[in-house]
Amino acid sequence: MNEMSGARGRGIAILGSTGSIGRSTLDVLRRQREHFRVVALTGGRNAHELDAQIAEWSPAFAGLAGGNGGSRLPVGARVLVDAATHPDVEIVVNAVVGAAGLDATIAALRAGKRVALANKESLVMAGELVAEAVREGGGEVVPVDSEHSAVLQCVTGQRETLCRLILTASGGPFREWDADRLRRATVAEALAHPTWRMGPKITVDSATLANKALEVIEAHFLFGLSYDALEAVVHPQSIVHAFAEFCDGSVIAQVGFPSMELPILYALTHPHRLPDAGVRRFDPVAASPLTFELVRRDVFRAFHAGVEAGRAGGTAPAVFNAANEEAVAAFLDGRITFGRISEIIEAVLDGHDTRPASDVATVRDADRQARQQARTLVAQAC
Ligand code: NAD
Ligand code: MG
Repeated sequence: MNEMSGARGRGIAILGSTGSIGRSTLDVLRRQREHFRVVALTGGRNAHELDAQIAEWSPAFAGLAGGNGGSRLPVGARVLVDAATHPDVEIVVNAVVGAAGLDATIAALRAGKRVALANKESLVMAGELVAEAVREGGGEVVPVDSEHSAVLQCVTGQRETLCRLILTASGGPFREWDADRLRRATVAEALAHPTWRMGPKITVDSATLANKALEVIEAHFLFGLSYDALEAVVHPQSIVHAFAEFCDGSVIAQVGFPSMELPILYALTHPHRLPDAGVRRFDPVAASPLTFELVRRDVFRAFHAGVEAGRAGGTAPAVFNAANEEAVAAFLDGRITFGRISEIIEAVLDGHDTRPASDVATVRDADRQARQQARTLVAQAC
């Protein structure tokens, strides 16, 4: 691993270090101190947690993206870009939730950094612009999302012969619920994910299956397959993370007990691996039985709407993402029912005239309009 280590270890920035992925990244780095060093950390509003991380890691830069003037640290959205483009940073772990992560993804790639991307929303909103930033700056995107990390691990060295991907979905807490019961699901029920412990937004996305639509779009941009070659299947045990099918019909899958620490470490080391003891040793008998089911597109309508937005392309995925973010925030605040989330997404997408996503301003404009419309619909629901 000498080519990866450098004299003092590779410099890491963690955007969103106080969240679920951010904290898991620090758990991984605690075991890998000889290979990596923490150069920059950013939190949202949680100054207390960030202070504790600063005390432990002594980063060269730290800031609170959502903070106000009361902090002794730099504050505001700008800190994400400052952390991401810091000259001592080689790898940016983007673990911010939502559209707020976009500018830092693009800035890091333009500056030639590797982006270990958990913030799937930036790729969904602006996949073509992210690819353009890679071409301009020579950076690279390596996925942290477990399904996409699985795909990368299956296809590395044989990417040209990949012809189909099947991403797995746990199915979330409402996998077996009928449409009527689903409409009335509570916040506590939606936050009780059966196999993963994550931040609140992605947990709700996993309950609506909007998360799997975001991931299908993410896979389209990461692996260059058409939507006809991208599928999702429900797999309640979350042991198989993805299947990759090659041109000769061979299928390779990546398996393991659910843990984000392995995909996080792999995003830092790809295409190499480092010895690590953080992952529960695999045991196929304990993992049994493994079952697979169709996604119920008629019940989980946010999934269907999201995949269709992906197919439409241009600004449609950004509109899907924005409507979803607004609807999920309103649901978590108790302002709308669970059933309204997919209805709002559908209504906002129906009212949108898709345009080419030719620059960040166009994408931001589509995002802003979609949010405005979603907020109006939320207000009507009260
Ligand atoms: P989280 O809510 O636990 O953490 C989000 C982090 O971003 C926190 O540090 C928060 O302070 C910060 N933040 C929030 N709003 C911000 C803003 N406007 N500007 C700057 N920083 C802000 O979320 P998470 O579960 O860690 O998810 C982070 C990202 O990773 C999401 O895009 C999610 O889809 C993706 N992801 C998460 C998991 C998981 O297991 N948690 C798995 C796969 C992908
Ligand atoms: Mg995932």
